[in-house]
Amino acid sequence: MTTLVFAGNQFKYEMENVAKLFFPLAHFHFDYDGKCPEDDYILFEQADVPDGIRLAVHIRLPDYRADDEKVLPAGTAPNLCEEELARQLYRMLEQHTGVHPQWGILTGVRPVKLVQRGLAEGKSDGEIRSELKERDLVSDHKLDLALKIAHVQAEVLRDLRPRDYSLYLSIPYCPSRCSYCSFVSQSVTGKKAQELLPKYLMALIKELRETAALADRQQLRLRSIYLGGGTPTVLSASQLRQLTGAVKQYFPEVGKVEYTIEAGRPDTITPEKLEVIRESGATRISINPQTFSDEVLARIGRKHTAQDVIDCYHMAREMGFDDINMDLIAGLPGDSYEGFCHSLLTARDLRPENITVHSLTVKRSSALYAQIDEMEDYRPVQRMMDFAAETLMEAGYDPYYLYRQKNTVGNLENVGYALPGHWGEYNIYIMEEVQSILACGAGAVSKAVLPGKIERVYNFKYPYEYIGQFSDILERKGVLEGWVASLPAPDGRKEGLYEEK
Ligand code: SF4
Repeated sequence: MTTLVFAGNQFKYEMENVAKLFFPLAHFHFDYDGKCPEDDYILFEQADVPDGIRLAVHIRLPDYRADDEKVLPAGTAPNLCEEELARQLYRMLEQHTGVHPQWGILTGVRPVKLVQRGLAEGKSDGEIRSELKERDLVSDHKLDLALKIAHVQAEVLRDLRPRDYSLYLSIPYCPSRCSYCSFVSQSVTGKKAQELLPKYLMALIKELRETAALADRQQLRLRSIYLGGGTPTVLSASQLRQLTGAVKQYFPEVGKVEYTIEAGRPDTITPEKLEVIRESGATRISINPQTFSDEVLARIGRKHTAQDVIDCYHMAREMGFDDINMDLIAGLPGDSYEGFCHSLLTARDLRPENITVHSLTVKRSSALYAQIDEMEDYRPVQRMMDFAAETLMEAGYDPYYLYRQKNTVGNLENVGYALPGHWGEYNIYIMEEVQSILACGAGAVSKAVLPGKIERVYNFKYPYEYIGQFSDILERKGVLEGWVASLPAPDGRKEGLYEEK
């Protein structure tokens, strides 16, 4: 196992992240005293020298040795020293592996935020572009994507106010567990889950009522609703009616704001449930193929075929749904570049209003984690993402939100594409962290977006904890209310923050 050794600095977090761009699932040892083992290490040195600060990287891997250094002026800020070491490491590993991670040394979750910030500071596209290219080594291709998204988002965020919020509801159950899944979602088929589900629903509706009262007291303005999970359509039609009825009762804005219900997996969708969704005031649904290959579906533990997804999609269209999202995943086990292209073209030809393309994320809590080779070549996934971008933009879809997750294959991204005017607003609000989210249910996380900081409130992860300790949930909502209460007055405006320059 390679050791990352630090001498005169402790930039562990950033250096590990950059190293993982090239060796995605590798584990490292760490040494903070500058003591190198005999072999298999990377040393990061920082030292004051007469003409400034010397920053050096020495790589001693079994199959690769290299050294680089640069002297920056005395007094250079620590974050700039860290960036310099990250660039050195990136360039050396790029040469060693032949891999060119397209986001450069940016390892954060929300690269578009950097572009948004640049726009808010009055910088031109050109200035933002050269900054991200020179400082962070981002490729032209990804810069095009990030800039395009930032401008689309500026449209949606133009009218944002401090007391705007979105409502999230969580149904943490699924018909079965996908092999790559790292959510708390549980299979609904077991006896225990079946017994717990009605109690869960009752508790969720109670939290929903309290949340509506909170929003009312604090004069918050509801901008969107998202019923997700898990797979909300694991609920029976009558349970779904009960829940969506409560949403309608407590939130009179239903019918006037974006309202998404994840219908997710076709093995849970019936005409009766779609009818309930249609009557609920939902404006948008998700039907998620992930892939249109039956072999890959079977391999990831899904118990439906590609044709089931297509049938379900047509059924929804015939019932009048006019805003449908489809999720696809690039890099699924058993899939190939050609297989992914086939899936993407199938989705494109169905012409849903939204197509969201994810890069596979392999987290430790997923069943898939044990099967993945540390050094698995992710270049095909990069090509898949590039194919998706090119094909969908040619077909009239615009990219409108983008985020990354840790341990994404190839440190790539997830991108939502939409036909003009069909942006899923909730996706932008949550991913760009520009609006408070009041979230209800097990595993849900509420966020108070305050001037200069974000406060979070975590609900219990599992339904049995959520039901059993429900009074704690209400107490935590009280804490959230305290934060929200400190927001600027209801008619305040987020001055300049997201104005397009
Ligand atoms: S449908 Fe989604 S939440 Fe449910 S098991 Fe599969 S990946 Fe996890």
